[in-house]
Amino acid sequence: MKNEYLLLTPGPLSTSETVRQAMLKDWCTWDDDYNKEIVEVIRSKLVALATNRPGYTSVLMQGSGTASVEATIGSAIAQDGKLLVVDNGAYGARMAQIADYLNIASTTIAPGETSQPSLEAVEKTLQEDKAITHVAVVHCETTTGMLNPIQEVAALAKRYNKVVILDAMSSFGGIQMDIADLDVDFMISSANKCIQGVPGFGFVIAKLSELEKCKGLARSLSLDLYDQWHCMENNHGKWRFTSPTHTVRAFYQALLELEQEGGIEAREARYTKNQRTLVQGMRKLGFEPLLNEALHSPIITSFYSPAHSDYQFKAFYDRLKEQGFVIYPGKVSNADCFRIGNIGEVYPSDIERLIEAVEKAMYWEIK
Ligand SMILES: *Cc1c(COP(=O)(O)O)cnc(C)c1O
Repeated sequence: MKNEYLLLTPGPLSTSETVRQAMLKDWCTWDDDYNKEIVEVIRSKLVALATNRPGYTSVLMQGSGTASVEATIGSAIAQDGKLLVVDNGAYGARMAQIADYLNIASTTIAPGETSQPSLEAVEKTLQEDKAITHVAVVHCETTTGMLNPIQEVAALAKRYNKVVILDAMSSFGGIQMDIADLDVDFMISSANKCIQGVPGFGFVIAKLSELEKCKGLARSLSLDLYDQWHCMENNHGKWRFTSPTHTVRAFYQALLELEQEGGIEAREARYTKNQRTLVQGMRKLGFEPLLNEALHSPIITSFYSPAHSDYQFKAFYDRLKEQGFVIYPGKVSNADCFRIGNIGEVYPSDIERLIEAVEKAMYWEIK
C-alpha cells in the first residue's frame, strides 16, 4: 500500500512500507514474543542510541509525546520543587502549562519565538531563585525549527545542581547527541518522530539514580513514570496497562531500519541534505526562512508566507497536496508563515520534486 502523498510535517510523518506492514499482526501483551522479544529489545536499543555510557534506563509510555512530558514533569518534581522552563515556542510553553495544571511551581525564561535564550538570563535566574530544582528545555523547538543551546543550558543547570529535563521529541534519532555527555537526567521523545515509527507512545530515557528518586511522587496513576518503569523492569517489558502493541511492533521495525540506514549519523546527514535542498530551492522561488540560518535545524523549516495579496495558505496547501505533498501551517504567533518538515521517509530527490511542485502551486505569481 503506497501513500497518496508525502507528509512533510513534524510528525506523524511518512513511514516506510515495511514499518506499516509490521502492524498487520496481533500480539498478546502477556506473551514473551511481545515483551521479551520486542519491548525489552526496544528499551535497550533506545538507551544505546542515547548514550554510550552506563547509568541510564528507558521507560515507554502510552499516549502522544505530551503524555511522556507530563509523566516526567509530574513524576520527577517533588511537592516543594520548582521548575524553570526555557520557553521560546509552543513546546516550551506547553511544559510550563503542564506544571500549572499539576500545581507545580514554575518560572520561565521567554525570549520570544525567534530567539535563543540568553545564558546570562538563565544563570541569573538560577542564582536568584533558590527554590528552583529542575530545568526543562526543548532541543528542537518544532514551532519554528530552532535548535536551542542545550549543552550550555544543561551545563549551567548542573553548575547550580539542578535536574535537567530535555524535550528532544522532534530531534532524538535525527540529531546526534550523548545524553550522558550533556548530563541530561530525563530525555523525552516519541515513536512518530525521527525514529520514523507511527504514533501511540512516547519514551523517556532517564538517569537511573534520578528515576529511582521518583518513587511515590507522581500526581497521576496512568502517568506514573516510576511505576511504569518498575513494572517493565521487573516483568520483562510488561506495560502496566494495555500497550499499543501494533505501534510498538512498528517501532521495533523502524529501529531496525534506522540501524540499516547507518544509525543516527547517517539519518542526520540525510535530514541535513533534505533541509539544505529545501532552503536553497525555496530561496530561488523567492521564499525567505523565518530564522537566521545559524538557528536552523535539519528537522523542520519555517518560511514567511508570500506578501502577495492573492496568497492563501489553504489554496497553496491544496495545490501541493494535489501534487503529492502535505506541508504544515505556521505556529508562530507574531509572523505569517508555514512550515515544511524534512524528517521521515523523505529523501533529497523528494525535496527536489517538492520545489517543482511549489513553483507550480504559486498561483499568485501566475495571475
Ligand atoms: C511533537 C512534539 C511534542 C509532542 O507532541 P504530541 O502532539 O503530544 O505528540 C513535544 N515537543 C516537541 C518539541 C515536539 O516536536
